[in-house]
Amino acid sequence: MNSEQIMIQETGAIHQGIQSDQSIIEAMNRWSGSFSKPLLPSNLGSKATIKQVTEEGAKILSMGVYMGLRTAVLGTIPYDGSTYEGHTMKDESAGTLWAYETNFPDGFASVNGEKFNISLGHIFKCHQCRGSGRIKCQRCGGKIRWTTYSKSADKYTEHVCSCGDGKQDCPECDGFGELLKVLRVKTTYKFDHKKTKDYSGALPESVLMGSSGNVIFKNTSEFEKRVIAEAIDGFEPDEFNRLMLDMHSELKREVEEKVAGQLINPNILQNLIDDYFKNLPNPVDANKRLQEEFLPVRMKCVVKDVPVKAVKYEYKGNDYSLYTYGNESDVWVDGKQPAEFTWKLVIIVSILAIVLWLSLTR
Ligand SMILES: [Zn+2]
Ligand SMILES: [Zn+2]
Repeated sequence: MNSEQIMIQETGAIHQGIQSDQSIIEAMNRWSGSFSKPLLPSNLGSKATIKQVTEEGAKILSMGVYMGLRTAVLGTIPYDGSTYEGHTMKDESAGTLWAYETNFPDGFASVNGEKFNISLGHIFKCHQCRGSGRIKCQRCGGKIRWTTYSKSADKYTEHVCSCGDGKQDCPECDGFGELLKVLRVKTTYKFDHKKTKDYSGALPESVLMGSSGNVIFKNTSEFEKRVIAEAIDGFEPDEFNRLMLDMHSELKREVEEKVAGQLINPNILQNLIDDYFKNLPNPVDANKRLQEEFLPVRMKCVVKDVPVKAVKYEYKGNDYSLYTYGNESDVWVDGKQPAEFTWKLVIIVSILAIVLWLSLTR
């Protein structure tokens, strides 16, 4: 370790310290030790002179809503003549799929939710058995008795079907002869969100967005389930808009108070929030009632601080630059890096030589 060689330059906007330089040296050593870079001198962090470190303060901003989506298709279930015990639609011209059993999951994970039927109250004769509840036996085809002949044994065998009368219960109506018209309802929950960055440095967006960091702001709030369900049930789009407006301004106030000061350009976050709310459809208007209905459950706004350091270093008289990023201090490079004959190359060449020698002497 030539740590005494490390020179620290004091520059206005550039934050520096022995601590951060140590993490950069370690990051460079890890990176330069890889066999995938055979010409890069190993332990480059320790061998090089770090000349300048600029903390670029990248932020990943995300805004989203956890949504429930309920879809319904028409179907039938066997009807046994008694009163239907499940949900029953009171009025098909009004109502919402969200008026029935609803248990919102915690968190923001994509999950399947409630599955149930809603009776539409309409009872009709089963078309498959014409209301008798019985169809032709599938096993014997209605024959009840039949004979088979085995050529190898030269023998006739008598068969009698267990159905007895050549019929079986109708699978469509379970033998009841009647069907009840229902809506088959399925529910899924998923997090719909948009991400952007508050960063204008050279580290590519694809690298930045996938990197780890520290959450410096997080706001989650529940939509008021009762108000939304009532708004949808009562066809009141304005009620929903008022609620959105309240949540929107509440979130913006929080952002202004708690995180705006830590951002390079606070407008980026404000615009992300504004755009998200603007494009959020009003479920009262947009839902295809009793077919496809979504319902906002809760929203989340997160600001993640990703450490990004632009590093300038010198190695054997030449200047180079690289970036370290994320909590793990991964290295990203764009441009020329030192290249020389290394022990990594010696090992790779030796292995190749042994493989070649083995294959020639077999
Ligand atoms: Zn039937
Ligand atoms: Zn049969």
